[in-house]
Amino acid sequence: MDTNEHEILSPLIFSTVHCFYEFSDLEQVWYLIVMRKCPPKLHAIRGIMGCCFLLEDGEQSVMIDTGMFGEPFFIRRLFRRLNLKPKSLKAILLTHGHLDHAGNLAWLKEWSGAKIYAHANEQAHIDGNYPYQGVNRWCGRLESVGRKVFGYRSANIDEFLNDGQQLPFWGGLQVVHLPGHTLGHCGFFNAKHNLLFSGDMFASYFFNAHKPWAILNSAPDKLNESAEKIRRMKPRWILPCHFDFLDGDLHRRRFAKLYGMDDWIQPSSSP
Ligand SMILES: [Zn+2]
Ligand SMILES: [Zn+2]
Repeated sequence: MDTNEHEILSPLIFSTVHCFYEFSDLEQVWYLIVMRKCPPKLHAIRGIMGCCFLLEDGEQSVMIDTGMFGEPFFIRRLFRRLNLKPKSLKAILLTHGHLDHAGNLAWLKEWSGAKIYAHANEQAHIDGNYPYQGVNRWCGRLESVGRKVFGYRSANIDEFLNDGQQLPFWGGLQVVHLPGHTLGHCGFFNAKHNLLFSGDMFASYFFNAHKPWAILNSAPDKLNESAEKIRRMKPRWILPCHFDFLDGDLHRRRFAKLYGMDDWIQPSSSP
């Protein structure tokens, strides 16, 4: 099987098992097996394309991204399971405005009343009028089909994010501007757990960790620079939005290997 087939098959296989995974609670089993290489009070919600995250913060909560199709059911179910009210949601943080991350933005904002936080450059993606260039036009074409199929609705960003900004959620989340995939693509760093939510800097599946496909990157020349920025931060754990297992150490090692940072592949020694 060549690389292209891998790239096409791995998301398909995982999107097929995603829903089974959600329904079966296998994630919880994996979470125990890997000895919590991921903080408590962090929940990944799997949809057809990738994951969004719910972070519990006492009686409050924060979401990172909103998914595309299927997530509203799983998000509502998780809130019920955790005994959280929709109003507990204090913020919707958006890594970037691609359809698989912003697909339920309007619904989640209406359902919870929470504000949307994203980089100003992402509003055009959310509105579906970003001026894609060259091969990147395919991304726009695919998104415009997706918007019609899924009955997508746009929403306005309430608070614009800037690099280095500290957000008062989940014990503190620092905005890390990581342009490349999109111009306003941002990660979120939590110092307490030394964990970086890395958005779409890479996708991490067990037989295929890869950088985002060329057609999806609006500023590909900035991607390696953003990876270097992550390396300088040296987070203990990394969680991308497209992944197999909820294991921050595993994804950090795959990220380091993918971007040629061989000295950073060893398992983290810190607890
Ligand atoms: Zn993306
Ligand atoms: Zn994505």
